[in-house]
Amino acid sequence: MLQLRPGCECCDRDLPPDSTEARICTFECTFCAECVDNILRGVCPNCGGELVRRPIRPAGLLVKYPASSERVHKPEGCRQSA
Ligand SMILES: [Zn+2]
Ligand SMILES: [Zn+2]
Repeated sequence: MLQLRPGCECCDRDLPPDSTEARICTFECTFCAECVDNILRGVCPNCGGELVRRPIRPAGLLVKYPASSERVHKPEGCRQSA
């Protein structure tokens, strides 16, 4: 099951479970669309894998399967790609 992490690892902006701006890699490194498009160019800085849109969990299921509240912020990974 996806963790649905609460924020972008680069800019720490909030990415709620219903956000269409959230992008994840296969390890669920989580970023916002703006960082992925402008800085990361679609590639995860942690694992080198591709970043795709995170699917939205239906609200009814969030009650039973809540999103993660564990915030990951690793801005150092977002400056290296130039
Ligand atoms: Zn971001
Ligand atoms: Zn990754």
